[in-house]
Amino acid sequence: MSWSVGTATAAAPAAGPIPPWEYAQATIAALHDDAPGVRSYALAIDEPHRNRLVASLPGQFNMLYLPGIGEAAISIASPPGEHPVLHTVRAVGNVTKHLAGMRVGDDLLIRGPYGRHWPLEELVGADLIIAAGGVGLASVRAAVCQAANHRDHFGRVAVLFGAKSPDDLFYQSDIAAWRAAGIAVELIVDQDTAGWDGPVGFVPQLLRDQPVVAATAVITCGPEVMMRALATAAFGRGLPPERFWLSMERNMHCAAGFCGLCQFGPEFVCKDGPVFRHDRISRYLEVPQL
Ligand SMILES: Cc1cc2nc3c(=O)[nH]c(=O)nc-3n(C[C@H](O)[C@H](O)[C@H](O)COP(=O)(O)OP(=O)(O)OC[C@H]3O[C@@H](n4cnc5c(N)ncnc54)[C@H](O)[C@@H]3O)c2cc1C
Repeated sequence: MSWSVGTATAAAPAAGPIPPWEYAQATIAALHDDAPGVRSYALAIDEPHRNRLVASLPGQFNMLYLPGIGEAAISIASPPGEHPVLHTVRAVGNVTKHLAGMRVGDDLLIRGPYGRHWPLEELVGADLIIAAGGVGLASVRAAVCQAANHRDHFGRVAVLFGAKSPDDLFYQSDIAAWRAAGIAVELIVDQDTAGWDGPVGFVPQLLRDQPVVAATAVITCGPEVMMRALATAAFGRGLPPERFWLSMERNMHCAAGFCGLCQFGPEFVCKDGPVFRHDRISRYLEVPQL
């Protein structure tokens, strides 16, 4: 997607995330309808917290707060240093449905960036397979943009993206730009649809056509069932679990490791995740309803 309002922010020192008891004021600078029920919001952040929010790393998230309505954790879809900050949101509940009714110029509150990021700095030289289901693509967008902007830092880079129907395959202009940057993008839909001549099925089946070699690393975000099936398929191809990272999108409240709402075994998804290396949480992934 191209945002006419997008500018790189001058690099000023950022002082870490906004503490959980403070907020920055944000104004919706632009809106983009990506897919049915999915909309992207370019948020212009007021001072004094702007630099803290634009100093995010790929895979981190912000808390979006609509006073009187509630707060929701939303991945930061824009790459580090980009302002306005981009969030892509599926309207599913209280906060996200109210957000979907807001317009350009409306204000909301925001705090972040929180959580652990995709370990791209550890993966320089790796072949990346970046796999996403549905709105999970928002969580990996910044990582794909980083790989596209620093193409020489990585080997082969592939994006595997699946959604219900062709209309749900959002970020189409990004996908064209990623392909132009030398990234392989493979798309799949769950439902056979008139006019769609691509594959029908689920994201893990796209892995079959991807080379998995010693240098391969997988990062993924999407429904947990998809991520579990992808891990099984990748490990079956010989990928070691230490080369597989996933983002766990559990509901959270404080986002600062206090309240325990997002507790996952001994881990708090807000501060120990949302990005986890598979071997760190594999035994909890096997526990139903955890
Ligand atoms: C780290 C992290 C990053 C996230 N990033 C994003 C993001 O970038 N974009 C985004 O849209 N969401 C994202 N989410 C998910 C989002 O925080 C939740 O969907 C949140 O519950 C929405 O708040 P709400 O008040 O609108 O919904 P709530 O009032 O909390 O209600 C949510 C209701 O919808 C159901 N529900 C939740 N998710 C879905 C879904 N995907 N499909 C259908 N039903 C669902 C729940 O079971 C519940 O009944 C992220 C979550 C986490 C933890």
